Amino acid sequence: MTARAIAIDGPSGAGKGTVARAVAQALAYRYVDTGAMYRAVAWKALRDRVGVDDEAAVEPIAARASFNLDGGRVVIDGHDVTREIRTPDIDVAAAAVARLPRVRKALVAHQRALAGQGGVVMEGRDIGTAVLPDAAVKIYLDASPEERAARRAADPAHVLSGAALGEVADALAARDRVDRTRAASPLVQAPDAIQVDTTGVSVDEVIDRVLALVRAGLRGAAGRPARSGAD
Ligand code: C5P
Repeated sequence: MTARAIAIDGPSGAGKGTVARAVAQALAYRYVDTGAMYRAVAWKALRDRVGVDDEAAVEPIAARASFNLDGGRVVIDGHDVTREIRTPDIDVAAAAVARLPRVRKALVAHQRALAGQGGVVMEGRDIGTAVLPDAAVKIYLDASPEERAARRAADPAHVLSGAALGEVADALAARDRVDRTRAASPLVQAPDAIQVDTTGVSVDEVIDRVLALVRAGLRGAAGRPARSGAD
């Protein structure tokens, strides 16, 4: 049992970032956005003119990268890419590098090291299934494709903000397909994750609901015996 780890997974636009940040703040845990790490690696691959499907070339970028994700910034190898990684090109490139098993392995190692430093709320696609399978609480956030597209179109952090809704919905559906059908750690709900459907639910209400589930889960986890090597 990773006693102080909360895993929040789900597709794009389900509200993971907002909810994970709020839960981390309420618990005074560290917030880790793993999607930003895939985006930052994709940014570096594009900058270095490395093909985003070229596993042998992208893997060392991921393995050797130093990340600083403090205070909502995304810094890779000293480059602050917070804003530059929220573009349609990086959406596509991040999903491409995320298909490469050796790149995933390198980033999962970084992510586990971050989780080893204390309480963490980690957000992504494979946190409950692959990165932290022993997380104390696992939440799977979902919403209808229409609502997820509307949220993405209205997201001021993303340069797609203001784009035609149909365009955003098509791009989101294409990326969902890549994330759900890839061979390496596809987006799938962990069997022991609690699903929260956020369709038609206000942000504050989703945060309240998830926080209640997390607090209850942490109390339950504290009462469970630690896993022994024997089971
Ligand atoms: O969450 P976000 O949209 O920023 O993630 C960007 C991309 O990174 C996703 O489309 C997905 O392909 C990949 N990703 C992943 N595993 C994670 C987080 C993100 O494969 N844990």
